[in-house]
Amino acid sequence: MPEGNEIHRWAERHQAAFGGKVVRADGPQGRFKDTDVIDGRKLLRVMAVGKHLGYVFGKDRILHIHLGLQGDFTEGTGPLPEVRGALRLRMWNAAAIKRPVAKGESRRHAWYADDDGTNDIDAKRVAWVELRGPMDCSIYTDAKWHKLRERLGPDPLNQRDGGVDGKGGDDPARAFAKILKSRKAIGELLMDQSVIAGIGNIYRAELLFRARLSPFTPGNAVSEQTLKAIWKDALPLMRAGMADRRIVTTAPRDRPSSQGKTGKGTNTKLRPDKTEVHYVYRRNGQPCFLCGTAVEKRDMAGRNLFWCPACQAEG
Ligand SMILES: [Zn+2]
Repeated sequence: MPEGNEIHRWAERHQAAFGGKVVRADGPQGRFKDTDVIDGRKLLRVMAVGKHLGYVFGKDRILHIHLGLQGDFTEGTGPLPEVRGALRLRMWNAAAIKRPVAKGESRRHAWYADDDGTNDIDAKRVAWVELRGPMDCSIYTDAKWHKLRERLGPDPLNQRDGGVDGKGGDDPARAFAKILKSRKAIGELLMDQSVIAGIGNIYRAELLFRARLSPFTPGNAVSEQTLKAIWKDALPLMRAGMADRRIVTTAPRDRPSSQGKTGKGTNTKLRPDKTEVHYVYRRNGQPCFLCGTAVEKRDMAGRNLFWCPACQAEG
């Protein structure tokens, strides 16, 4: 499941490729039947909140996409490729149809899911995107989008430039008030999209570790100061995940290989070894980088939770 960093990254890329341009759209698979509402219209802007994308084509013409667990985009330069697979939606700009095909020019990007951000096409050169397997791809009215916004908590990534939708950055006060009143565990609250939007399982685990906070602490036992620190910590971490699709949460000084202990050398500082990008996420049974205690795993609200029982002791 992509987290907020990926959703905001797509919003920025699609804005760069299609924003202010006339966009053609179709739905080869036949499951998205409302392409007429947006096809041939100018894309005014792309919004992102939490795990939701909204492409504004005019009043009551918002294309809403939620990728869910399976959804993914592919993208490319040059003319449209042949239809392959269960293709829910295609969007393309003039560059995809008008420009003559130069040999070897049309290039398909890797599946996003297989891509670590190192083989990017410059977003401005993207001529088409394909969407497969989303949880939702439908047309929203302005009122429906507004309702969604109200249902979702503030989004840490929506602070940049006054928020992606231009309506001002998200104020975390609403989220803090909910958490400070709740008896639910903080580990559960951080994943609740109606409390904070955009934080998924990886950031949940890693933010709590970085704050040295037990995931089982009830919301009403967490200090506001700690919440502020977590919110502040989330922004650069999630932003870094937008630039480079890998979510890296460890500080270089905390990675064993950069201390020369694993014999892998020290040139991993820029692109850390994949076994050292997280403190606790999917590291159950392995020693904590800081204290050596085995990282634990448990189910919490239907998702696996990872934490260090020593660094994040209860009480
Ligand atoms: Zn530890």
